[in-house]
Amino acid sequence: MKPFITTLLSVLILIISNTYSFANEGNLNFKTISVPPSVKDPATYKKTASTLLISCVDFRLRDETEALMEKIGLLDSYDEIVMPGASLAVMSEKHKHWAETTKDIIGLLKDLHNIKQIILLDHKDCGAFKVVYGAKKVETDEICLHKSVMAAAAKKIQKSFPDLKVYTLIMGLDGTVENITDDLL
Ligand SMILES: [Zn+2]
Repeated sequence: MKPFITTLLSVLILIISNTYSFANEGNLNFKTISVPPSVKDPATYKKTASTLLISCVDFRLRDETEALMEKIGLLDSYDEIVMPGASLAVMSEKHKHWAETTKDIIGLLKDLHNIKQIILLDHKDCGAFKVVYGAKKVETDEICLHKSVMAAAAKKIQKSFPDLKVYTLIMGLDGTVENITDDLL
């Protein structure tokens, strides 16, 4: 009987640890912490940012998003709005206030940092798209769906801010990024 209980307990511990393996709460028990600054002298920071990136909240792609911005030469030159579904935030009928908020922030950053261009960065396997359109639609028609929402979002942004160029990109969970800006013209 004893080995059975031990095995059962081991299995339960394994299930619990797998279930909660993504729920790392980090270490927040500090008063002061230092991270590496990207410039030696903060006074040398530029006063403007060329770009506003609108990306999704998804925790899985934070590193990849920053790596993308570095790869296209925009690290430390962009502001960022992080909203569920990225382009969805501009278009969702279910969450109209998201679009209002995003529009307000674009106007503010245009004045504050003189942004010239916007990058809408959607990603594949997006939970927010599944919530709004249903998992089945996202699974069967993912790229077409993103293209249509991004095209509509880009058009809507350009209607309010005609002097801003809007680029549309889709990131895969493997970090591959497709530039679909020209496909939407
Ligand atoms: Zn997402």
